[in-house]
Amino acid sequence: MYADIIRFVRDRFHTPDGETLPLHPPTFAGNEKKYLEECIDSTFVSSVGPFVNRFEKDIADYTGAAGAVVTVNGTSALHMALILSGVEPGDIVLSQALTFIATCNAIAYTGAEPVFIDVDPETMGMSANALSSWLEQNASKGSDDVCRDKLSGKRIKAAVVMHTFGHPARVDRLKEICDHWGIELIEDAAESIGSLYKGQHTGTFANIGALSFNGNKTITTGGGGMLLFRDPETAQRAKHLTTQAKVAHRWEFIHDSVGYNYRMPNINAALGCAQLENIDRFIESKRATAAVYKEYFANEPEGIRFMTEPAESRSNYWLCAVKLPDRTARDRFLTETNDNGVMTRPIWELMNRLPMWKNARTDSLTHTIELADTIVNIPSGVIL
Ligand SMILES: *Cc1c(COP(=O)(O)O)cnc(C)c1O
Repeated sequence: MYADIIRFVRDRFHTPDGETLPLHPPTFAGNEKKYLEECIDSTFVSSVGPFVNRFEKDIADYTGAAGAVVTVNGTSALHMALILSGVEPGDIVLSQALTFIATCNAIAYTGAEPVFIDVDPETMGMSANALSSWLEQNASKGSDDVCRDKLSGKRIKAAVVMHTFGHPARVDRLKEICDHWGIELIEDAAESIGSLYKGQHTGTFANIGALSFNGNKTITTGGGGMLLFRDPETAQRAKHLTTQAKVAHRWEFIHDSVGYNYRMPNINAALGCAQLENIDRFIESKRATAAVYKEYFANEPEGIRFMTEPAESRSNYWLCAVKLPDRTARDRFLTETNDNGVMTRPIWELMNRLPMWKNARTDSLTHTIELADTIVNIPSGVIL
């Protein structure tokens, strides 16, 4: 049924028959080996070294953030973002059921409870309208200016929005709503390095944003993450907390609070510096593939639609996505493509369907459920 599509995708990626076409393999085409060798020759392979500082500066320059602080992965960046936003045990954090588990795990690490808000069918990120309605119905802001859940009396401290598959959420409106209610907005920009909303890099609208450089992301450090800040002072605090809260001294080991061993090693940052040198080429290639997919699916073969970048956005098209007519078609498409060596994947199981959050509060999740039933990611790697 999907033989034509399978042929088309294999041809686009020049994948010979019998070979498996991965979803998003990493691409190493620049100074990766050279920089790694420099690390080994210099013995600076761990959490101190020139590449770590350079990578932070390069990412700040690339994204336009006022400060950038490396972490060991995207999950730890999100955890740190929540800590720096003042999230404490017993708080509520608003987020999406449609996301990768890391978003929710980070919320759980702080002892806070997630509440899941519906996503926008176009961006697949948190819906500003849904957020606003949930707050109108459930929140109140007292004379102390603290936003509370009317039902439980708990503080609603933060909201984590995610830029799904690299497509920017409507983060300016989300920010306005959060500011109005006194809620800290955090951007999970793990998937959206290089994606712009109204010309501004995703992850720099909120006070804190988080990137990931896992092996399947647009650029990789093996494992790694980065915090983006609008305010250099918070960046300083983040650097302190991610390096065991150690007070600078020539030899004494003084730590002024409970810190975290979250700093990215130099060897990973070396990889990141080399990858970042090629990011424009990578994104150009990914966008060219997206344009080819868009044209191929323009007549909706087998009722399949291609998910294009939202209005006023420039997406990195981290993972290209198609929308099948229903769950039965989705499952058939997944079976047929994977059986024929073309790797495709559904959206993650929704967070409120996992055992840890099966009793979590949600709104109607209308669009979330619809997308979970019908969206499939198709091969999206860089072609050089
Ligand atoms: C990749 C990813 C992360 C972070 O993952 P790490 O593997 O810890 O770097 C967080 N959120 C989302 C939505 C992601 O896709």
